[in-house]
Amino acid sequence: MTELKVIDLKRRGLLLILSSPSGAGKSTLTRNLVREDRGIRLSISVTTRAKRPSEINGVHYHFIDSIPDFEEMRDRSDLLEWAQVHGNYYGTPRKPVEQALARGEDVMFDIDWQGTKQIVEKMRSDVVSVFILPPSMAELKARLERRAEDTPEVIARRLRNAREEIAQWGAYDYVLVNDDLDRTFGDLKAILAAERLRRERQVELGGFIDDLLAAPVE
Ligand code: 5GP
Repeated sequence: MTELKVIDLKRRGLLLILSSPSGAGKSTLTRNLVREDRGIRLSISVTTRAKRPSEINGVHYHFIDSIPDFEEMRDRSDLLEWAQVHGNYYGTPRKPVEQALARGEDVMFDIDWQGTKQIVEKMRSDVVSVFILPPSMAELKARLERRAEDTPEVIARRLRNAREEIAQWGAYDYVLVNDDLDRTFGDLKAILAAERLRRERQVELGGFIDDLLAAPVE
């Protein structure tokens, strides 16, 4: 009788980047995915933006009060990427990403197109980038207003910036229109499942195939 054994081949971790204009549903998708999938962890950015009432320091962001502190981190190369978005600084701490990848985990990023470009330049083959579009500009505005966590001036600025962000869609591997959160979430999980199976990420496949072919067939 043939012996059944579990084949569990190691693979390289991947970097799943989600970008979208504010209010397209990206944060909800990100949160739901890391809650449901134990194999992926969220990169927590540092920012000089003021904390919103519902946010927790160290969970949503590492909030930094002073711009010089941010600039010091940036200049020490502690950040994998950084950008100025809506007038505030945002950046991705390098170390947690490197540690997660070394443990064989995937890392998820909720960052803008400028940051995506920088990570792609450094780690192209490990990056999977997804752009989330709102179903319409009217719906985007309605979502920003419904969130009711920003002032009207901040909302107006984010809407103006949305056009600039959306113009970057062509630099992404996948583009999803988020007209239905459940469906978009399903599509995102499908992308992640397929990308995890890509041949280039299967670092133990060569050895497995050597053994497979070397074994005698009775
Ligand atoms: P919010 O202020 O609404 O939390 O985020 C504003 C924008 O900044 C979002 O598009 C978000 O994806 C982006 N962002 C958040 N963290 C980072 C980061 O570390 N780097 C970059 N480049 N963008 C970020």
